[in-house]
Amino acid sequence: MSACTERAWSTRASNCALQGSHRIDFQDLTGYFITVYGQHEVVKDLIRARLATGGQILFEVEAVSVHDFDSSRPRICFGKDGAHHAIECDFIAGCDGFHGVCRPSLPADALTIYERTYPFAWLGILADAPPSSEELIYSHHARGFALHSMRSPSITRLYLQCAPDEDLEKWPDARIWEELHLRLAGGTNWKLTEGRILQKGVTDMRGFVVEPMQCGTLFLAGDAAHIVPPTGAKGMNLAVADVYVLSRALAEFYRSHSPELLQRYSSSCERRVWRAQRFSWWMTSMLHRHEDNPFDERRQLAELEYVATSRAASQSLAENYVGFPIE
Ligand SMILES: Cc1cc2nc3c(=O)[nH]c(=O)nc-3n(C[C@H](O)[C@H](O)[C@H](O)COP(=O)(O)OP(=O)(O)OC[C@H]3O[C@@H](n4cnc5c(N)ncnc54)[C@H](O)[C@@H]3O)c2cc1C
Repeated sequence: MSACTERAWSTRASNCALQGSHRIDFQDLTGYFITVYGQHEVVKDLIRARLATGGQILFEVEAVSVHDFDSSRPRICFGKDGAHHAIECDFIAGCDGFHGVCRPSLPADALTIYERTYPFAWLGILADAPPSSEELIYSHHARGFALHSMRSPSITRLYLQCAPDEDLEKWPDARIWEELHLRLAGGTNWKLTEGRILQKGVTDMRGFVVEPMQCGTLFLAGDAAHIVPPTGAKGMNLAVADVYVLSRALAEFYRSHSPELLQRYSSSCERRVWRAQRFSWWMTSMLHRHEDNPFDERRQLAELEYVATSRAASQSLAENYVGFPIE
């Protein structure tokens, strides 16, 4: 298990009275800490757990489609090794991400979509270098937001705010490191460790929610139902919470034949989803450069200063960051 245990994150600010580094100690503020755990490790754990219970996983399937979810006998059809297959089931869990087939298969008039796109994106890299800090570092800088994170004790994850249509060709490795050094500077006795860049990509920033998260016997979970901008680190946490709520509802159905928890699935999840949307929007708005109006720019810096200097404000951030108990 390659996990890095975190207790805090720091904010860095430039170009204002707040200049410098400000530590937000989650454990002191909330009694909880967060764990940074690579998403590929989560996937490996889930595969291991499924195989350990004798379950089957099919890889490399094609032409997946879902049918009859307005009935008590829905079907999943797919192709594999040149043959056509269909699985008849009681329920379908649509956990196939934002670009999967489940959500688009639902009738448009069955769903309400709420959406917000942000006028910036993240240029993210994975670097073959140990993290330069055991804590996350979020930086607000005149040149744009930057984030120091980690995938494992030997691999660093770093992000730079960029334009949604940013051309990666214009970002050779040397330019990326130069920009990261500029935007993340500020900590005393702190130095960013460079390493070979293993992966580069641009991620759009979007808030998206579909309601309800259920249509008949098909239940949407995770990114299939909602997307948050990654600034609040909530997407995977929300996906896991959805699946936890859904698994309890299914277990209850098979135990007692009561559909009550299944009927409440969507409303149970929506509350947490909107709380995470609010927090992710707030973090994103506070930390990124996006205001052309000098008034809004100063207001943004005042917000950051409040978080860095008020225990009540930093406690609110910490409480949201460590997350809420699943009801
Ligand atoms: C830059 C960035 C940083 C992030 N950082 C964090 C963070 O720090 N903390 C956090 O909690 N979240 C974070 N997230 C969000 C997190 O990655 C997602 O919210 C999470 O992966 C959603 O999980 P999911 O299982 O719902 O969807 P996905 O991870 O997209 O998984 C869906 C799966 O379904 C499969 N699939 C799709 N269609 C089909 C099909 N037709 N047939 C078979 N399989 C199919 C896909 O191959 C995929 O494996 C971050 C996201 C980004 C982009």
